[in-house]
Amino acid sequence: MKNHRRDFIRKATLVGLSTGLGLGACTRYIPTGSDGNFYINSSKGLPKVNVSKKRVIKESVGLRPFRKKGPRIELQELDNKKIVHNYGHGGSGWSLSWGTSKIAADIIDTLYSKEVAVIGCGIIGLTTARTLQDRGYNVTIYTKEVFPRVTSAMATGTWSPTSRLILKENITPAFTEMFQQACSHSFNTFQRLLGINQMVNWMENYHIASNDHSSNNGHQKYAAKAQLFSHEMNFYPSPNQLNHRDNPFKVKHVYKSPTTIFNIPIFMKMLRDDFLLAGGKIEFKTFNKPEDIDALPQKCIANCTGLGSLELFGDEEMMPISGQLCFLIPQPELTYRASMSGVYFIPRKDGIMLGGNGIENNWDITPDDEVTDRYLEGVAEMMKIMKS
Ligand SMILES: Cc1cc2nc3c(=O)[nH]c(=O)nc-3n(C[C@H](O)[C@H](O)[C@H](O)COP(=O)(O)OP(=O)(O)OC[C@H]3O[C@@H](n4cnc5c(N)ncnc54)[C@H](O)[C@@H]3O)c2cc1C
Repeated sequence: MKNHRRDFIRKATLVGLSTGLGLGACTRYIPTGSDGNFYINSSKGLPKVNVSKKRVIKESVGLRPFRKKGPRIELQELDNKKIVHNYGHGGSGWSLSWGTSKIAADIIDTLYSKEVAVIGCGIIGLTTARTLQDRGYNVTIYTKEVFPRVTSAMATGTWSPTSRLILKENITPAFTEMFQQACSHSFNTFQRLLGINQMVNWMENYHIASNDHSSNNGHQKYAAKAQLFSHEMNFYPSPNQLNHRDNPFKVKHVYKSPTTIFNIPIFMKMLRDDFLLAGGKIEFKTFNKPEDIDALPQKCIANCTGLGSLELFGDEEMMPISGQLCFLIPQPELTYRASMSGVYFIPRKDGIMLGGNGIENNWDITPDDEVTDRYLEGVAEMMKIMKS
């Protein structure tokens, strides 16, 4: 296990630091008529992250509920229950939550039962429960854990609908169709939540590439956007390679694009409050085997147990992909995110989050100091190559 960890972000050293392109401070274009094509070094650079181990305020390791065949959204009849599964979202659960919950609710609509038990209180359980309430269902959530002890609380919280979602070899036309529906519905729902208590925000992302490609190729066995998106699916502008004048870093290949960020603690609190306000109930209960579900009073069940479905339903397609995060003291002046060589930082309301790793089949949720140190080194490196 340690070896896997040690392999992580070894490549943090930047290629191209000495390309001679770092010509000094940020510059501003002065339009002085037709001959105004020159620069002065007067504009301010981006505010910098204060990187120091002493500023680390919390760390977490979450287990992405990865399913080799992608999320399972389907009906299963078990004894006298109708179970609608909605689990296995890998590194894309926040992004796809509203979308797969809509698909699960569409299936539940065909079952003619107004009482629904939702098992699980992560982002998938909560969005499923809220979607059902909005359609007039009486919903009870049964769960082992709630925020902050669920995987959903330990996520980065960016729009990443294809992150560690499905193995490339398992993509089928039916899966692609389901994915596209879920993705579009989710995106539209998130945009409607903009402006409400800063649950959702837009932010510029700078990606510092070590060559002239804007995306890294580290996850080749997982399906990429190109394999799952249709031509019409353009949620926001493609990353734009910055020219020298607009580039806040002293290296050549920097790409900028806007992206959607979710403020996880407030988002989950709002969903839970809204659920309770709409008459929903939450009961703590652990299900060890399918027969435990049979004892519930409701006939219709939405299974949103994430990684729990491995044990509960014996789904061997499931495996954890762990991801460690580390948070620094918030700096309100930071309004952009950046990534380089597998390390990123995002200024969230609950701290400046550093992250980027993924270890398959790792069940260990103890934060590893070595990983934290590499995150800190990676972000310190980004600050070093930033124009001042
Ligand atoms: C480090 C990291 C970064 C991530 N970043 C992003 C990102 O930027 N964008 C994105 O879209 N996604 C991201 N994800 C993925 C996302 O967090 C998950 O896909 C999502 O949280 C899964 O939600 P869930 O509700 O299915 O699972 P969970 O949050 O794990 O919830 C499962 C619920 O089921 C309950 N449960 C489980 N088993 C049982 C049982 N037997 N009996 C009773 N209750 C049970 C649990 O207590 C819990 O309440 C990230 C994940 C990690 C770990």
